[in-house]
Formats: sequence, C-alpha cells, structure tokens
Amino acid sequence: MNRRYRKTIIAGNWKMNKTPTEARALAETLKTRVARCKWCEVVLCVPFTDIVSLTRATKDCRISVGAQNLHQEESGAYTGEVSGKMLKDAGVKYVIIGHSERRQYAGESNELVARKVKAALTAGLRAIVCVGETLKERDMGVTNEVVALQVRSAFDSIPTTDELKKIVFAYEPVWAIGTGRNATPEQAAEVCTYIRTLIRKKYGARAARAVTIQYGGSMNADNARELLAQLDVDGGLIGGASLDPDSFAAIVQAANQ
Ligand code: PEP
Repeated sequence: MNRRYRKTIIAGNWKMNKTPTEARALAETLKTRVARCKWCEVVLCVPFTDIVSLTRATKDCRISVGAQNLHQEESGAYTGEVSGKMLKDAGVKYVIIGHSERRQYAGESNELVARKVKAALTAGLRAIVCVGETLKERDMGVTNEVVALQVRSAFDSIPTTDELKKIVFAYEPVWAIGTGRNATPEQAAEVCTYIRTLIRKKYGARAARAVTIQYGGSMNADNARELLAQLDVDGGLIGGASLDPDSFAAIVQAANQ
C-alpha cells in the first residue's frame, strides 16, 4: 500500500451467495466492526438481488455497494441482463468486470471486457477490472504476457487519465481463486508492479501512481497483512473470506494499519 498516492480498497466479492435478508444481516454486523477503519474504502460486490437491501442497510455508513457484472449495452432486448444505468440508479458505485469465473463460465473475452469497461464508465460507475493468469500459463512462464494483453485491452476503453481515475485493477491469479492457495506476497507484488508499469507507459507516471491495484486470490485474515504490506498492492478483492463478517472485518483492519 502507498496511501500517500492512492486509495486502499478492500472489496468483497460475494459471488452467488446471500439472500437479501442475509445480506442485510451481514451488513449490520460488518458496520460495527469496520466503523473505525477510516484509511481504506470498503466495498461489497453482491448479487443483483441484494443491491437494494444493501444500499439501504449501508446508507448511514462508509461501506460502498458494488455489482459483479453488467451488460455492455445501455438498454434493449437482452433478456436477463442488467445495464450500468440500472446499477447506477440503484445506488451502485463499483462493478467488477472480467472476473475469471465470468471469463471461464460465461466466455467473456478481453474484447467483451473492454466493452463492459466502457459501459461502466458511461454509466458513471467505477470499474474493478480483473486480470490474471492460469496455473498453466504461470508454469509456462507467460504470466506477464497474459496480464499485459488483458490490461492493454482494457486500456482501449480508457481514453484519458480522467477515465483512468475511475478504474481499479485487480490482479487475481486464477490458480489462487477459491483454492486456499494464495500467491506469495512477492508473487503478488511482482505482477502488481508490472501492471503499474504498463499503466505508466500508457498514461504517465503521475496517473499511474494514483491507480489502486488490488490483489485477489484466497486472501484471508491470516495472510492479508503481509500481502498488503507490498508497496504496489493497494487492497484486496476477497471472495470466500468476505462471506463472514469477522474474517472480512479482520482484513479491513489489516488494511487500516
Ligand atoms: C474472488 O472471487 O475474486 C476471489 C479472490 O475469491 P477467493 O478470495 O475466495 O479466492
């Protein structure tokens, strides 16, 4: 983390978990646990059906609500889809784009991810853009190439440094997501620093040093402090551990040190 230049953001990704009733209960507990954590932004990226109950439950606190996906078009005949405009109007601030589970199960390509980034920015949302290599790619020694392709393709939808201010990158090695096997702090730092180098080359040093780059992949209360101690790791995107208010609050507290 480097709070002098950029915001620390701890975001939970609930995936397909929690009903609206459960969401409200979790938020009520979490609120009291993170009330004193003023040094980092706390975001809960929740299923669409939880957004309304969560925006209500977090009205009087500093927890922001995020979504986990959006459609690339603003409106139209896209049965079952949700647009950025709808999310914005429902009180959503952040949206996760290009999570590896969507790349894998919904076939989202780098090109589609870029279109979704554009849709998020047009709607006035902040985008958490996920990038990361598979285990096979890491073993083949092509991590940087894979990540560079993903990051540069998102750049296509981020024309200026003004738009860049609305973007968070999340480095999420696919082999660490939901596996209980987190990247070492060194591995996480290496790729996060590389992502910042790519940003610097495209947008300049001043813009690059202000971008929040999260690490995600089996981050928990035990490993968060060490991961967040890395200079270019500005926060976390947390799946499993965000479903339990005590575990998630412990990560937020680690980010607040
Ligand atoms: C995620 O879903 O983005 C994630 C990092 O999951 P987990 O923390 O469970 O590995």
